[in-house]
Amino acid sequence: MASSKGICILGSTGTIGVNTLDVISRHPDRFHVVALTGHNNSELLLQQCRENEPEVVAVTDADVAEKIERQIRAAGLDIKVLCGVKGLEQVAALPQVDYVMAAIVGAAGLLPTLAAARAGKRVLLANKEALVMSGALFMSEVRDHGAELLPIDSEHNAIFQCMPDNYHTGQGAVGVEKILLTASGGPFREYGPEQLASVTPEQAIAHPNWVMGRKISVDSATMMNKGLELIEACWLFDVSHEKIQVVIHPQSIIHSMVSYNDGSVLAQMGNPDMRTPIAHALAWPERIQSGVEPLDLFEVAKLDFVEPDFAQFPCLALAYESIKLGGTATTALNAANEEAVSAFLDRKLHFTGIAEVIVRTLENVSLKDPDALQVVLDADMEARQICREFIKK
Ligand code: NAD
Ligand code: MG
Repeated sequence: MASSKGICILGSTGTIGVNTLDVISRHPDRFHVVALTGHNNSELLLQQCRENEPEVVAVTDADVAEKIERQIRAAGLDIKVLCGVKGLEQVAALPQVDYVMAAIVGAAGLLPTLAAARAGKRVLLANKEALVMSGALFMSEVRDHGAELLPIDSEHNAIFQCMPDNYHTGQGAVGVEKILLTASGGPFREYGPEQLASVTPEQAIAHPNWVMGRKISVDSATMMNKGLELIEACWLFDVSHEKIQVVIHPQSIIHSMVSYNDGSVLAQMGNPDMRTPIAHALAWPERIQSGVEPLDLFEVAKLDFVEPDFAQFPCLALAYESIKLGGTATTALNAANEEAVSAFLDRKLHFTGIAEVIVRTLENVSLKDPDALQVVLDADMEARQICREFIKK
């Protein structure tokens, strides 16, 4: 077996981060934790430091950094503490790190994930927003620096598993007719317009099949998550959005499919548990135990497939529109969505208002060719400012 791999987890205190540490802890001979990062959950970060003894941790905020440094010293641990975005970028590029789990939520993940790509690491990508914001740029950094990009999003990991042998992300695959991107449809799949208008944050973050962070749970409820995943799939698999079909599959047992020109449709199945794609990407091309219960098809009994209703879920239609518009439209879509979701969680916007303010933002932003990082960051900022104005109204 190969030598132990050094792991950096960007966003170790989140749902994906915690699941990654769970898988890693099952394979102490294969993986060791080099670096962890957090945002404001210093209690959990400290506990993770005790259990995994990384060489270094990084947090965004200087006060949190000072606090955790004191706690680390008091616990008698020898761990370096870095701070700010520069600190996050630094840990992602450390020479003793082999694999970087990119599991920060939202646009905040872009710079550290890019740093991992530029350092030529194996990047395990959960942070789909990074690709939605800056797909062309991100993929070219991966190529130029010899990084290896493996998808963690369960659908994209499933698609990757259904691709031909020796397939690498960023390449088109021969013989692929269509990608079938499955969606659970979220908790409001059967709601009418009036019920949707009065949805509360508590209802929106209670997903029927998956346990996830707050932002992605709301995205799943609006189906913007599937929209972001559509854009993510275009970049990861080098396909046009016309070759991607969203299929509502409420049981979340099939995680996505690839349809080939000989009539074969390959699917990847399993219980809905993120430890499967995490273990797959950590060990690829080998297979390792993940702790996930084996699938019992008799218990599942039935698999349903339904066409999505774009009128009920306008966010999905907006994602198709923004990818057709091109340029920085998907950057603006992502930025406006982050602002809208955060306003909804703060009870400053109705659930149906999320799509409304995104539409208005997209109508008012200037579209640019995202050929440089600064163009992407400026487009993100511009869309946020415009969106905040519409939220206030
Ligand atoms: P989460 O909210 O549980 O965790 C987010 C992590 O990011 C935490 O560690 C937090 O400390 C960190 N973070 C938050 N804001 C930050 C900031 N401004 N700067 C630096 N760090 C910050 O989210 P999650 O559910 O683990 O999702 C993480 C990413 O993975 C998202 O992009 C999500 O779309 C993607 N993803 C998650 C799942 C899932 O099942 N949870 C599935 C597929 C994809
Ligand atoms: Mg997903």
